[in-house]
Amino acid sequence: MALRRLFIANRGEIAVRVIRSARVLGIETVVGVSEVDMDSMAARLADKSVVIGPAPAAKSYLDGARVIAAALGTKCDGIHPGYGFLSENAEFATNVEEAGLIFVGPTPDNIRAMGNKLEARRIATEAGVPLAEGSPRMHSANDAREVAETIGYPLLFKAAAGGGGRGIRIVRRPEELMAAFANASSEAQAAFGDNALFMERYIENARHVEVQVLADGKGKVLHLGTRDCSLQRRYQKMVEEAPDFGLPQAVRDGLHEAAVTLAKRIGYRSAGTVEFIVDVDRRDFFFLEMNTRVQVEHPVTEMITGIDIVATQLRIAGGEPLAISQSDIGFHGHAIECRINAEAPLRNFAPTPGRITRWTMPGGPGVRIDSHAEAGWMVSPWYDSLLAKLIVHAPDRVQAIALMSAALNEIRVEGVETTVSFLKTVVSHPDYLEGRINTRWLEPAAERFVASSASLETGETTA
Ligand code: ADP
Ligand code: ADP
Ligand code: MG
Repeated sequence: MALRRLFIANRGEIAVRVIRSARVLGIETVVGVSEVDMDSMAARLADKSVVIGPAPAAKSYLDGARVIAAALGTKCDGIHPGYGFLSENAEFATNVEEAGLIFVGPTPDNIRAMGNKLEARRIATEAGVPLAEGSPRMHSANDAREVAETIGYPLLFKAAAGGGGRGIRIVRRPEELMAAFANASSEAQAAFGDNALFMERYIENARHVEVQVLADGKGKVLHLGTRDCSLQRRYQKMVEEAPDFGLPQAVRDGLHEAAVTLAKRIGYRSAGTVEFIVDVDRRDFFFLEMNTRVQVEHPVTEMITGIDIVATQLRIAGGEPLAISQSDIGFHGHAIECRINAEAPLRNFAPTPGRITRWTMPGGPGVRIDSHAEAGWMVSPWYDSLLAKLIVHAPDRVQAIALMSAALNEIRVEGVETTVSFLKTVVSHPDYLEGRINTRWLEPAAERFVASSASLETGETTA
């Protein structure tokens, strides 16, 4: 049954993104907003908006019962959860279906299978997908000490329920084990209400490479190639690109195959992403996790494949089988995305809520902006700080970097501080241009940026 009226259970740029694809498909849209989002761009662009609760997400965007009631009350026939919030909540997906609505996303079983990293690792092992050496659930730092000797240092504690980089701690020496266990466990408890931890071998010179998949739930699974998301701060992505760069074709083929194998194994439906860590020195790769939702960085894949991933999610949700096959999918050029956040790089990337007084974005061939911000918009302290994604597409990586740099330079935002100044230094760095980056490159670069700009501000000279 094709969707006729869609409820969007999200906010910000992803709500706007979903409205745009739905409209082209002739699907009406209703967005559920919190009281502080009543004047949002998504509320304006949707056919209708309804207030689902007050500003705190727990009482609005995370309140599944209210969301379902609002969708039924506005006579919608399906719900798109976006990313974050309720998107990877299996119980919510079940309740949506039990209310007679279409959940635009994977089946509740798909979400459950991949939602817990320990369970996901078990399934990946069965499917023959390579994993980094790891442990079962660790109940105490003392248990962990013995197992750590067999895995070897450095290693990571990870939250089984983890996401968004929370609940991860690196352990380089046995002496650090105790404190790392306590920190990871309390962060996991606070973020996910679940303090289960496991350990995984830490790969030093690593790239984060992931594979976008599309599956129709009727047996067909396709991949849309790779994305490199190695530029991360606190395990959170800041710059992403597609395809990956500099990997041997055999590794790339291996990644594609592993992703499709895993998705098939769990009878996956909808769009999803299988994340891997690539050991650059050994040219080896290991499964990290599967994100059972549309991701923030999906546009770079859309740019190089010409496939609208959100529209495909909507079609699959409406029961259509995938009409294309793997050989129909071509990869053209190179795309890069920069996440523009309302954060002050010089104040350790602290959020900068406030009113935007000027909002001038770049344009021209190969430049795309996915955003919900505009002049006059009040950036709320209640939600995450993503303001816009600047995406560029060019024939190759070198030209894409030049285009990104030019586009960043056109941006004029006033009223709130953003990460644009920092992003400019990243994309103009020789290491970035030459691809000499790994998952640990950005963090020290951010620290140097803060140090150098701080000394310039106080008038000190740097050698
Ligand atoms: P990606 O970029 O791979 O899509 P991110 O980790 O950046 O994923 O997360 C995307 C969004 O989802 C962000 O807004 C983040 O805050 C949110 N998010 C990620 N994991 C969780 C989680 N477990 N619980 C709540 N929100 C999450
Ligand atoms: P989350 O669910 O929080 O996104 P992931 O398992 O995807 O957690 O890991 C987040 C990031 O942490 C990865 O993108 C990578 O930079 C780093 N990371 C995770 N596992 C490893 C590992 N075994 N070795 C090195 N880095 C890792
Ligand atoms: Mg991840």
